[in-house]
Amino acid sequence: MDKKINVSFEFFPPKNQDSIQSLWTNIKRLEPLKPKFISVTYGAGGSTRANTHNLVKEIKQKTKLEPAAHLTCIDSTKEEIEKIAEEYWDSGIKHIVALRGDKPKKSNNKKKKDFLYATDLIKVLKKKHNFKITVSAYPELHPDSSSIEQEYDVLKKKIDLGASKAITQFFFDVNYYFDFIDGALKRNIKIPIVPGILPVTNCKRTIEFAKKMNCKMPKSLVKMFKGLDSDNETRKLVAATIVSDQCKKLLNGGVHDFHFYTLNRADLSFAICHILGVRSLK
Ligand code: FAD
Repeated sequence: MDKKINVSFEFFPPKNQDSIQSLWTNIKRLEPLKPKFISVTYGAGGSTRANTHNLVKEIKQKTKLEPAAHLTCIDSTKEEIEKIAEEYWDSGIKHIVALRGDKPKKSNNKKKKDFLYATDLIKVLKKKHNFKITVSAYPELHPDSSSIEQEYDVLKKKIDLGASKAITQFFFDVNYYFDFIDGALKRNIKIPIVPGILPVTNCKRTIEFAKKMNCKMPKSLVKMFKGLDSDNETRKLVAATIVSDQCKKLLNGGVHDFHFYTLNRADLSFAICHILGVRSLK
C-alpha cells in the first residue's frame, strides 16, 4: 500500500479586512485536504504580532484544524514570551514553531537581550508547558552560519531541548535537501525534517528573497519565467509545473511530508496536493 502523504500549510496574518476575507477563503479551500497543521507566521518587526495571536486562536475556534503559532524571540523579553506562551496554552494552542527571527538592524530596546537564539526560546517554552515544538532547518545554510556542521549542531541542540520536528527553509534544487537529510541521518538526527515548499509565481521577488536567504535559484527556473512579468495566468501554470516537478522528485526520494509556504494563496498548493495524491475529504 502507498504510504500516506502528510501536508501542512503556512499562512501569514493579513493586515486589513479585505485580506482577512480572502485568507479565510483560502484556508477553507485547503481544509478538506486534512493537513497535519496550519501554521501562522509571526511578524519580525512587531507590526503583525497581535494579528498572529488572533488568527491562530480563530483557526482553533472556527475549524477542526490544528493551528501552529510561529513565535520569534529576538528583541523580546522573557516576560513577554512567557505571557504569550501562557495565553496560547490556555487557549488550547499547544504547537509552536519556535524561531529566533531576523536580527533587527537596530534593537528597539537595548534591555531586550534575553534571547540570542531559537534554542533560548525553546528552553523558556518547554519550562512553561509541554508544547509541541517545531523548528527551522537550513539545507543551504542560514546566512549567519559558517558551516553545515554548525547547522547540524544547532539542530541537535534544539532536539535535545525538546523540538520534535523541523521545517526547512525553501529550496529549489532537491539535492540540497537530500544531502542535508543524509548528513542528519549520519549524525543520528532522527526527527522529521520536512521540506518547505515555496510555489513561486513572482520570480523577481523570489530572486531577491532567495538571495537574502542563501537559497540558490537555478538559472533554468529563472529562464522559465522570462517575458512573463505581466502574464499572471501563464506564470501560475509555469509555477505549477515547477513545484509539481520538485515535489515528485522529493516523493520519489522517499519524502512523505510536505510543508507549503502558501503566501496566503490556496490554488497552487491545492493543485500540487492533488498531483501528489492528497485528495479532498469532506
Ligand atoms: P536559529 O536557529 O536560532 O539560528 C540562527 C543562527 O544562529 C544560525 O546561524 C545558527 O547556526 C546560529 N545558532 C542557533 N543557535 C545557536 C546556539 N545555541 N549557539 C550558537 N549559534 C547558534 N521569521 C519570522 O520573523 N517570522 C516567522 O514566522 C518565521 N517563520 C519561519 C519558518 C521557517 C520554517 C523558517 C525556516 C524560517 C522562518 N522565519 C521566520 C525566518 C527566521 O526567523 C530567520 O531565518 C532567522 O534569521 C533565524 O531564525 P531561526 O529560528 O532559524 O534561528
